[in-house]
Amino acid sequence: MIRIQHLSHEYPGVRALQDVSVRIEPQSITALVGPNGAGKTTLMRCLCGLERPLAGEIEVDGINVIEEPRRSHERIGYLADFFGVYENLSVAQCLEYAAAANGIRSGLAARVLETATSLGLADRLQQAAGTLSRGLRQRLAIAQAIIHGPQLLVLDEPAAGLDPEARHSLAALLRHLQASGMTLLVSSHILAELEEYATHMLIIDGGRIRDFRPLAPQLQSTRSLQLELAADAPDAMRLLAAQTGVAQLRQQGHALSFEFTGDFAAQAALLKTLVLAGVPVSALHPERVDLQQLYLDTLKTPGSPHES
Ligand code: ATP
Repeated sequence: MIRIQHLSHEYPGVRALQDVSVRIEPQSITALVGPNGAGKTTLMRCLCGLERPLAGEIEVDGINVIEEPRRSHERIGYLADFFGVYENLSVAQCLEYAAAANGIRSGLAARVLETATSLGLADRLQQAAGTLSRGLRQRLAIAQAIIHGPQLLVLDEPAAGLDPEARHSLAALLRHLQASGMTLLVSSHILAELEEYATHMLIIDGGRIRDFRPLAPQLQSTRSLQLELAADAPDAMRLLAAQTGVAQLRQQGHALSFEFTGDFAAQAALLKTLVLAGVPVSALHPERVDLQQLYLDTLKTPGSPHES
């Protein structure tokens, strides 16, 4: 869905992006993370054809964004970090305006209703935008960004300022949009919640990509698993080590952690083997990755930037 190659961007006297290359698959949700001033907003604005880069190529759904920004806008929805809504217009009027601004002429009322319903705003259509809570205002802004049916949605810090409940509901909304076929790129400083919605994490620092990794277990070639034992089982380590696809086995008390290269069927077979061999398994689950720690470790590690 997104192909960025050797992208560099410069503001007067500031190199904001340096040789950024990345490919993002359709129907993924990529969390774009990095310290303040890392270049996240600049990358998003370049991707949406709102900044002209110094060098490089950007394609969205096969369209060259730099050469055909207007055509690419049909495929892209963008919500800036600081956005406003027309406070005195009703939710319906805000959506009609956004639709008209995106060139939608026919079927306007149906489109407004459909979008409002999908974002849980159907019962708010007549309410003035200025009277919405922060969470609902955020939903309205996202509705405005997707009313023209883009394939890609780019959200700059959408969770900023939302309370935990509204952030949780935003995560559910992002997953709903993904399930409806959309690809999402979302910048965030709230690492603890990324696993709730993101399939990938893209770490950027000093204008360079430092890491790009899948978060969803089904996208990883290796999964970190943890086996919990209900009692001492002296043979468990030896038995587990002998299984296909098991590596980097380590034990801490009754918890055995390991890397596993098999698919979910292989994981089920592994569990069956252990249970039939009499190992007292109380649980087998993905090992919890501390994204905050992973992020800090990545930024601390000096070294070559990520190549994609
Ligand atoms: P934050 O997390 O604070 O929003 P960011 O990762 O989005 O930061 P950018 O806003 O893309 O980072 O900024 C990248 C670099 O470019 C920073 O050094 C910033 O000061 C600089 N910069 C951004 N916009 C401009 C501008 N319009 N003119 C000059 N420099 C700019």
